[in-house]
Amino acid sequence: MNDIITHIPPRKIILHPRRQKKIINCVSILYYRQGACYYLSVSKIAEAVKIRDFKQEAKDIQAKLVEWRRWCHRRPGVGFAVEETADYIAARLEDWGVETERGVGKTGVVGIVRGSRPGPTIGVRVDMDALPIQEENTHDFVSKYPGKMHACGHDGHIAMGLGTARLLSRHRQDLAGTVIIIFQPGEEGWRGAKAVIDDGVLQRHQVEAIVAGHIGTLSPELTLGQVGITFGPIMAAVNNFEAWVIGRGGHGALPHNTVDPVVISAEIITAWQRIISREIPPLYPAVLTVGQIQGGSTHNIIPTEVYLQGTIRYFHQSAGDILRTRLEEVMAGICKTWKAQYKFKLDQGYPPVINDPQFTKFFRKIAASLAGPENVKVLEFPTMVSEGVSFFLQAVPGTFFLLGAGNTGTDSPHHHGRFDFDESILWLGTALLTETAWQYAEGKYQQCN
Ligand SMILES: [Zn+2]
Ligand SMILES: [Zn+2]
Repeated sequence: MNDIITHIPPRKIILHPRRQKKIINCVSILYYRQGACYYLSVSKIAEAVKIRDFKQEAKDIQAKLVEWRRWCHRRPGVGFAVEETADYIAARLEDWGVETERGVGKTGVVGIVRGSRPGPTIGVRVDMDALPIQEENTHDFVSKYPGKMHACGHDGHIAMGLGTARLLSRHRQDLAGTVIIIFQPGEEGWRGAKAVIDDGVLQRHQVEAIVAGHIGTLSPELTLGQVGITFGPIMAAVNNFEAWVIGRGGHGALPHNTVDPVVISAEIITAWQRIISREIPPLYPAVLTVGQIQGGSTHNIIPTEVYLQGTIRYFHQSAGDILRTRLEEVMAGICKTWKAQYKFKLDQGYPPVINDPQFTKFFRKIAASLAGPENVKVLEFPTMVSEGVSFFLQAVPGTFFLLGAGNTGTDSPHHHGRFDFDESILWLGTALLTETAWQYAEGKYQQCN
């Protein structure tokens, strides 16, 4: 069969009526010869004549993508404890001849697809950790491990990352440049991205750009199979804080002999909200929530201490700078005025996820060609959820996209025991990552800038 089709130039398969070849729905060729009927899948044709069609090739491996996803779904790992998943990923990569690094950022796996010609290097980042949640689904691939579940879709991301490695490795002879596929642990609040970056993965491979995505229902603007992008902030930064107002306790009837931390805390909480309304530029979205306040034991005792806990969310670094500085300053000022002491602790959090406008323009074209232009949406609203991919996007330009994968069989959101996503988008997620990585490594991004 190959002798007949290898002479045909890529993308120009001409049907010869006497040879009775015909294309069936543009996905395969039926070939009749000497009374026998042969079938060639597009992947086989692509391999034979070096046609690269990642959209079709990703569709062709859809069943595999589902298999990989379900394998991972059954064996979730939380935080950095993802060794079993990492072993599985590394075994697949090695099977395909993809150079592999283990233990990156503690338990991350990196697959390196080197082209045969020099060119730029791009990173494809997928996260691989699950959540400490008891699964409530009843499908036949539920989590084997009590209290652990892939409830955010990262199992789908792993499948997409593997699919990307599979498709790129098939065409590596024609690839210029290098694609680094980074399977990152510890996304769900563990700063795993930072760990992987601090391990030197970007410098070691001279990664110049990054592409990543999140499947699911994070944006209400996206329906199944729609790709959401922004040309700037797409997810919020987060910092969580704890604060203690330390006064002097006493009798509830004799407040003049005490320093009342309850009244002082009330003033602090109200004053903090004024940072949002009076100090943050009104067009910069920001949230300050005090989610917990604890103090006192009964109606007639003024306690010694009140404990506060809360979170701040924002998109613009300058809004974050104001919040991070002013929370403590305002608290210190009020405590000084009313003769109380205080303690204040702010965690390191995640920076905002900010897409690079130029790279996103480049990505939009690719997404339109794969999903259809009508299915690529510039989101009107980013989401206040945060994501550790922000560390990568601080280091190098790139795009983090959202891929609508709502499952009509479930109405449960991300981080819920009944969360599930529609697996039918796995091929599209794979094609988006693969085609973007390929075009970047080929130098197409540099050409359009
Ligand atoms: Zn999550
Ligand atoms: Zn997630």
